[in-house]
Amino acid sequence: MKYILSLLLMSVTCFSTLAAKSVPFERDWHTFSNYQTVVSTHVHLDVKVDFNSKQIAGFIEHQLKALKSDVNQLVVDTRDLDIHKAEILHGETWVSTDFKLGDKDKVRGSKLTIAIKPNTQKVRIYYNSRPEASGLQWLTPVQTAGKKHPFMFSQSQAIHARSWMPIQDTPGMRVTYSAKVKTDKSLRPIMSATNDPKWDDKGEYHFEMPQPIPTYLIAIAAGNIHYKKMSKQTAIYAEPELLEASAKEFEDTQAMIDASEKLYGKYRWTDYDLLILPPSFPFGGMENPRLSFITPTVIAGDKSLVSLIAHELAHSWSGNLVTNATWRDLWLNEGFTSYVENRIMEEVFGKRRAIMEQALAAQGLDAELVDLPRGDTILHVEIEGRDPDDAFSGVPYTKGQLFLMFLESKFGRKNFDVFLRNYFDTHAFQSIDTKNFLIYIEKNLVNKHPGKVSMEQIVTWIKEPMLPSNAPKPRSDAFANVQKNMNAWLANDLAIKQMPSKEWTVHEWLYFINNLPENITLAQLAELDKQYNLTQSSNNEIAHAWLLLSINKGNKAVYERLEDYLISIGRRKLIVPLYRALIETNGNDQFAKRVYKIARPGYHPLAQGTIDNLFNKSAN
Ligand SMILES: [Zn+2]
Repeated sequence: MKYILSLLLMSVTCFSTLAAKSVPFERDWHTFSNYQTVVSTHVHLDVKVDFNSKQIAGFIEHQLKALKSDVNQLVVDTRDLDIHKAEILHGETWVSTDFKLGDKDKVRGSKLTIAIKPNTQKVRIYYNSRPEASGLQWLTPVQTAGKKHPFMFSQSQAIHARSWMPIQDTPGMRVTYSAKVKTDKSLRPIMSATNDPKWDDKGEYHFEMPQPIPTYLIAIAAGNIHYKKMSKQTAIYAEPELLEASAKEFEDTQAMIDASEKLYGKYRWTDYDLLILPPSFPFGGMENPRLSFITPTVIAGDKSLVSLIAHELAHSWSGNLVTNATWRDLWLNEGFTSYVENRIMEEVFGKRRAIMEQALAAQGLDAELVDLPRGDTILHVEIEGRDPDDAFSGVPYTKGQLFLMFLESKFGRKNFDVFLRNYFDTHAFQSIDTKNFLIYIEKNLVNKHPGKVSMEQIVTWIKEPMLPSNAPKPRSDAFANVQKNMNAWLANDLAIKQMPSKEWTVHEWLYFINNLPENITLAQLAELDKQYNLTQSSNNEIAHAWLLLSINKGNKAVYERLEDYLISIGRRKLIVPLYRALIETNGNDQFAKRVYKIARPGYHPLAQGTIDNLFNKSAN
C-alpha cells in the first residue's frame, strides 16, 4: 500500500514538472565534473585534521548513480590536492584503479579523472589538502580569542570545497554526507551536520548530514570550541572567551526561526546552531546548514547587527533548501535571502528598523553601482571564465531584494507571500536556474494575477544592467529626522550638543555618517569626534563608516585606530573598502602597504587575494 502510494505521488510530481515546462539547467561552467553523466549522491569522509602539517588527509568515498549507460569514468574537481590513489569497490573488495590529474586551470583548479566500470557503485580517493588550500584557514593561537589553541575552519562557497576534498563541486547537484574526523584531543571538530554537544576526549568524531545539500555547504571547523544551548532549537559553539557574549547577543535566534516558519513554512534542518569564529573570518556569515558560521564583528552588545543572523537563517529556505543551479544564478540565493532576512527583521524587531535596514542597503547599492563594470550590475550576470567570488557584490543581494520588494508592492504582500512559500515548497532540496525561475514565475505569479506586472518588466529586472526606473526607493522617517538635525547643525542653527543623538540607534548613526556632505571640513569632523568619540566606537559598522569617511576626507587623526582596526579584523566587507580608499587617495600608499604587511598573515586567503589585487591594480 505504501509502495503504491509513493508511486502515485511520483507520477503526480512528474506530471506537474511537465506541466510547468521546466527546461534542462544551463551547464555549470565552474565545474570540470561529469555530474550530468554520473553523479555522486553520498560522500563519506574519513580524514584527519592535522594542525602540524596544516593538512586534511585521508580518503573520500563517493556513492555513485549513473545517469547514462556505459559510463567509464568519474570526473571530480580538485584544487591544490595531492592525490595518492583511487579505488573502486568490486564485489566486496576495494581494487585500485587508474586516475589522472589534469593541469591546473587558474579559476577551476585541476580535473581529476578516475576510471570506473559501468556498474561501479563506490569510489574511494586517498588525498591530502595542502597548507595553501583556498577553502581552509589555519589560525595560530595568537589569531584566536583565547590565544592558547590553534583553530581551523573551512569556507567552501563558491568553489573552494574542491581545495579540501576531491568532489563534484557544483550547486547543480546535491549530496548527503557522513564523516569520521580525527583531531588532537585538545581540539574539537564540528561540521555542518549533526553535532554531538558532548565533547569526548577520544579525538575521533562522527558526523551525519542526512539531507541532500549542494557541496559548497559542506563545512568543517576545529579548535577549542565550547557549547552553550540557547533555546529548544538553537545553540552557540564558540571559544569559551566568546561564548557568553554571543549567547546574549543572539538570544533572539529562536524568535527568528518562529517568525520565518510562520511566513515560509517549516524549518527543515532540525537544529539551528551558530559557530562564532575568530575575527579573521572573511565574511559576515556563512549559511552552512544546521551550523551557520558567524563573524564575531557583529557582537556589538546591543543586538544592533543581528540582521546578519536573520540573513544566514533565511538561507535555510533560499539557498540551502532551494539552491542556485550555477554561480550565474547567485541572485536567486542572495536576493531572495536579503528579502526574507528583512521580513524576519520586521517580524521580530518591527517595521521601523526593517525600513532603516532597507534604506541603508539601497544607499549602499547606489554607491556601488557607480563603480561596478556595467555588466556586473545585471542580476543574471555573465561570469564564465571568472572566479565566481567576483559575483559577490551588492547586486545579487540588494538589487535582488529590491526586485522582490517591487513584486511584493505590485502583487500585494498576501499574494506574494503565498507565491514565495509555494516556490520554496515546490523546489525544496532542488536547484533552480534563472531560466526555470522565469518559467515558474510566469505561470505561478504573473499569469495568476494578470495586469499587475508584465514578463517584460521582470526580464528587464533580471537581464538588464543597473536599476530599472520602477525600483522601490525605501524611505525611512527616522532617517528624515536625522537628516533634518544634520542640516540644522551644518547651517549653524543647532549646537552639536543639542542633536537628539542619545535616542539614535546604530542605524541612525550609520545614516548620519554616510550622508555627511561632500564639503564637510576637517574642523567639523573633529567637532563630531570630540562630542561622540566616533573614532573609538566599539561598534564595528560605525567605526568602519567613520574610518572610511575619514580616509576620503584626509582626517589623519583616525590613523592609529585605523591601523588597529585593519590588523584586528579580517571581514572583507569591513576592510576591503578601507584599503581601496587608502590606495585611491593621495599620500596613503606607504601607510597602506605598511599596515597590510602586518595584517596580511592574519587574513583569510580569500581576503588576501582580494586585497593583493587592489595593490597590484594600483601598481599597474
Ligand atoms: Zn547570503
